[in-house]
Amino acid sequence: MPITCDIDEEPGLWERTRIPGLLRALWFGASQLIRRGCPARIDPPPGAPGEHRLMLREDGSVRCTACMLCVAACPAGCIEVELDESLPPDAERRPKEFRIDLLACTLCGRCVEVCPCDAIRMDTGKLPPPVRSRDGLIYDMRKLASNHPEGASPLSRAL
Ligand code: SF4
Ligand code: SF4
Repeated sequence: MPITCDIDEEPGLWERTRIPGLLRALWFGASQLIRRGCPARIDPPPGAPGEHRLMLREDGSVRCTACMLCVAACPAGCIEVELDESLPPDAERRPKEFRIDLLACTLCGRCVEVCPCDAIRMDTGKLPPPVRSRDGLIYDMRKLASNHPEGASPLSRAL
């Protein structure tokens, strides 16, 4: 049966309230939810950038030296690194805290590219999950340092 679309026809009062369109959208959304279920997490395709992780040294500390290159390179301004100033002046720089706001992150991968010591990667194979509050998508150093994909080493292979 041919599909026709009479664009000259004036929408009636009921159509002009936009309620029919809203009901159709709600019905479509509900039917998709029933058919497919509510996904707890959507995984990216293999090789695509996912959530970040911080790589560790043999002693379990993070490899990051708080050089701030990723902070400067991030186009979204969503990385915060706090230098640990309690260390002696001749000690290697370490971060006291490292935070990424995944709600602002564009998954561009610049932070991984510019890091001089392979301290950060985006190979977790996970995308940020649905959350109820913004705080749930601000990953701190503790979360980032343990966010390793199953079977992957948290130790860097580059150095
Ligand atoms: S992936 Fe891009 S936007 Fe996200 S934290 Fe890294 S540099 Fe910033
Ligand atoms: S993750 Fe890499 S680029 Fe970012 S502050 Fe640490 S060492 Fe520097």
